[in-house]
Amino acid sequence: MTANLIGGEWTGASGGRLVERRNPADTRQVVASAPDSTAADVHDAVTAVAEGYDEWAQAGPERRAEVLAAAAAVLERDPEKLAAELVAEEGKTLAEALGEVRRTPANLRYYASEAVRMTGRTYPAARGLVYTTRQPVGVVAAITPWNFPLNIPSRKLGPALAAGNGVVFKPSEVTPLLARRLVEALLEAGLPPGAIALVHGGAEAGAALVADDRVAAVTFTGSTAVGGRIHGAVGPARRCQLEMGGKNPVVVLEDADLDRAAGLVVAGAFGLSGQACTGTSRVIAHDAVHDELLARVVRRAEALRVGDGMSEGVHLGPLATREQLATVAGYVELAMREGARLHTGGTPPGGDAVAHGHFFRPTVFSAVEPSSRLAREEVFGPVLAFLRAGSFDEAVRLANDTCFGLSASVVTRDLGRALEFAERVDSGLVKVNQPTTGMAMNAPFGGVKGSSTQTFKEQAGETMSHFYTVDKTVYVGNG
Ligand code: NAD
Repeated sequence: MTANLIGGEWTGASGGRLVERRNPADTRQVVASAPDSTAADVHDAVTAVAEGYDEWAQAGPERRAEVLAAAAAVLERDPEKLAAELVAEEGKTLAEALGEVRRTPANLRYYASEAVRMTGRTYPAARGLVYTTRQPVGVVAAITPWNFPLNIPSRKLGPALAAGNGVVFKPSEVTPLLARRLVEALLEAGLPPGAIALVHGGAEAGAALVADDRVAAVTFTGSTAVGGRIHGAVGPARRCQLEMGGKNPVVVLEDADLDRAAGLVVAGAFGLSGQACTGTSRVIAHDAVHDELLARVVRRAEALRVGDGMSEGVHLGPLATREQLATVAGYVELAMREGARLHTGGTPPGGDAVAHGHFFRPTVFSAVEPSSRLAREEVFGPVLAFLRAGSFDEAVRLANDTCFGLSASVVTRDLGRALEFAERVDSGLVKVNQPTTGMAMNAPFGGVKGSSTQTFKEQAGETMSHFYTVDKTVYVGNG
């Protein structure tokens, strides 16, 4: 059982409703239950932070850095235990969960180091002094998805708190337990309880939070559909940062090392069971290598084991929810109707060990029409679509033929082609001979087109910290 944190008190929702979370690998096990918060709970949470965060805003950068670094140390105390909770709540494999559990404290340390670097500027002036100073924006709403329940919130709470803001955190209703763990670590590290509120719940709580105009900035990661609604509700006078869906391509040129290409396609498409915003969902292969690459990808996909993420030798855990499983199965049916050719997967695996979970086999389609829904819409599951290109120009055109623009990769030995691809592809992240997934913690992260608001990128120093601070220009006369 977890709870909301409002004004330093752990509390239930005013309506008394609960959301129950079951293990997606075995839905007979309840992992957590959390309050299904109402608009009234959200109102109380915003009030508590609006009235309570000043102590934190005044704490000074060094203190803020100390607290974030101490929270990182708390999270590092028992990584195996935290990773096991992550596997049970979200469905990753243990190796994937350990990766996230290690990345999260590293993020917090990075933002701790940024806390003391948020500098302003001085400007030449005829008389006296003109300078800018960076101030917290105020109350920040952080709304997050379930697929990285520690990592993504730490990339929002870390910089927001480093800058001295108060935060109302509304995690996904799918992963309430991990959200609690992150907040507990911050409190144990010495974050004043007035600087943070945790409100659980779903769309009702999220919408109420966005609608509250005491919230000065909304940082959201999730689907493009929900992001669009949030953007409309925030209006022009408040800040909004949206990181949303993707339809990420790997373009494989005729000179590519096919073993390397197959390896990075499979890692990007089937890691995290395809539930990564930067996951590979399209392969655009040059005619000269298409068939051989397809055969190698299918062979590798068939060697992957699907099962409970805690079991030895498992490569793909379950999909996070029953709804995700239905969506993935729905896209497979649709692709068959659209005339795509199924090479492997397409169904849940069989056997007693997976009988009670939301499992799906790695799935590969070829002959996917560029205009089909499988080629254009985000599936967010282990389903890969192969498209053919007759030339480099056609491959770039196909890569850009989507409303998304998050991550794109090119596999080639030709540096000139790789750099031309980086120039011409409409994508916030470009990878050369690397999977579409995976990113540096200290570099800007975000998409273009329907993948992002494009106004502020996440993660890296200057680009990230500008979202959480207001530049004030000060003029000082000399007498
Ligand atoms: P989602 O959009 O369904 O939910 C995200 C969050 O928004 C949840 O906390 C949810 O409760 C909340 N929410 C739902 N309706 C709301 C409303 N009307 N107002 C305010 N909040 C509302 O996304 P999800 O299913 O949790 O996550 C999967 C999606 O997230 C995928 O589309 C994926 O591509 C995307 N994602 C993007 C990135 C990125 O950095 N670009 C990273 C991870 C996931």
